[in-house]
Amino acid sequence: MAIELRNPKNKRFIDLTGKTFGTLTVKSFMGFKKPIGCSKWICECQCGRTFEAWGNALRAGQCTNCGCKRREKVATKHPLYSTWAGMIERCYDPKCKQYKNYGGRGITVHDGWRKSFWSFAEYMGQKPSGFYSVDRFPDNNGNYEPGNVRWATKQEQNRNRRSNHLVTLDGLTKTLAEWADEFGISRQAMLQRVQSGRSLHGHRQPNSRPKKGENEPEISFSERRERRRTIYEQVAAGATVEIAAKSHGVSVSLVRSAVREFRSTP
Ligand SMILES: [Zn+2]
Repeated sequence: MAIELRNPKNKRFIDLTGKTFGTLTVKSFMGFKKPIGCSKWICECQCGRTFEAWGNALRAGQCTNCGCKRREKVATKHPLYSTWAGMIERCYDPKCKQYKNYGGRGITVHDGWRKSFWSFAEYMGQKPSGFYSVDRFPDNNGNYEPGNVRWATKQEQNRNRRSNHLVTLDGLTKTLAEWADEFGISRQAMLQRVQSGRSLHGHRQPNSRPKKGENEPEISFSERRERRRTIYEQVAAGATVEIAAKSHGVSVSLVRSAVREFRSTP
């Protein structure tokens, strides 16, 4: 379709810039179609899409959205639609019974998914069976967003509950997230360590493990705790967390975690 781009100076030209038609807002003039002379416009739909529309179709009310209304209608028949709608409701509708456990504690839905069911459906793929539902994983306190959702059964979800995220090491109980901070690894990596039952002590990046013969002693748990106490004492004596972190060669979050740990039990 030939579009002639020229300056709209003829008398019949009606500038639609800024006007709204249904959910479409006209952003700018695009060009004329030869030889009839219909104008084409770049519009932005409320759903966030950019859409090109003919001026006559807009003014005649034949074009009122980018097609999202139709897609939405089709979406309601999709097997994942109720999953998606339920997720949005739990996170954003205070009238929803479960809101207090979701939106009420700050859990949100990834913006692209909130705006578009199709974007969510494409990411999630097919539900393995009716026994599965969407689980926030590996971070149960995290949001519904790419990288933190999976299809899971009830049992799998129970294992991933907030209350199950307390981990006890040598008599000290902390949340998974706190331990992850302490070890300087991601929550996902920490969870994998816990679930695999691998040793939580003496962890290192594979490349930084000392070679045989270097004879570097592994730090025991109690030594680790002593070090945290020393760090805490430094902060208690007036050092900033940044300075304490630097002088011990550890992360700021580890210092904060040490402060939290010893502040209550000096
Ligand atoms: Zn739209």
